[in-house]
Amino acid sequence: MKYIPREIVHEVNITPVHPLVDFGYLIGTVAAAAVAVYVGLGVAGAQIAARIGPEAEAKVGEIIFDSMFAEATLIQDGPQFEYTQSLAEALRSESLQQRPELKLHILDEDIPNAMVIPGGYVFVTQGLLDDIETENELAFVLAHELGHYEHRDTLRSLGRSLVFLSLNSVLALGGVQLPPMLTGSISLADLHYSRDQEQRADVYAIEMMHEHYGHLGHSLDFFKRLNESEPDLGAVNQVLEWQSTHPLTQSRIEELEALAKQRGWALAGEATALPF
Ligand SMILES: [Zn+2]
Repeated sequence: MKYIPREIVHEVNITPVHPLVDFGYLIGTVAAAAVAVYVGLGVAGAQIAARIGPEAEAKVGEIIFDSMFAEATLIQDGPQFEYTQSLAEALRSESLQQRPELKLHILDEDIPNAMVIPGGYVFVTQGLLDDIETENELAFVLAHELGHYEHRDTLRSLGRSLVFLSLNSVLALGGVQLPPMLTGSISLADLHYSRDQEQRADVYAIEMMHEHYGHLGHSLDFFKRLNESEPDLGAVNQVLEWQSTHPLTQSRIEELEALAKQRGWALAGEATALPF
């Protein structure tokens, strides 16, 4: 068979494509590669995050804590602090005993909120402590966050940011600078949970309510009040955990009550008074 050389090279060179179109392709390719790296690092971050041991997690937690809360006003003493800390301790499941110990912080902010970050850092805002009416309400909120902690949801969620933060500090040592969009710090806006993660955290919380109080009575009252005023609260702050992650609403409450019924757990019971 006779070999016939193809003249592709010439054809490519004479293609009448405007240079701007070529430039567009180039930008497109670079952008696609950047997205691939971003997504890939995110996946890697989440994978690593889901596997690390308690000592590494404690270090990761420290980095995230320093990055997220450098500017925040934190309260770590006083009767409200002591009380909330010991309530959180009481709601720690057995498997959480293997993880870094809980470190409660009260954030001096008016908007009611709570969150947890890797390494056992638990945050409640002063606004939350002012808004709750019974211990049961506070217990549910704390237990929901401990559910995220037990399931390593925050490690997974912040994994990507953490990879970039670490990469940035390593490259900075070598005098290399990442583009600004890939640097910076970890913020609360990076904290996202899926609907499944929310549901699992809720299930952890009602199991804890059943274990701790023997019933679910008053545990969901805070959320019921929040739902009644949701139109006002919705626009306040996008990073609020229970406004930005849906559904928190009536359907979430109904799902929880249905699950409790299915397990034969009491939905009603006495409220435990707050000492403050
Ligand atoms: Zn949540």
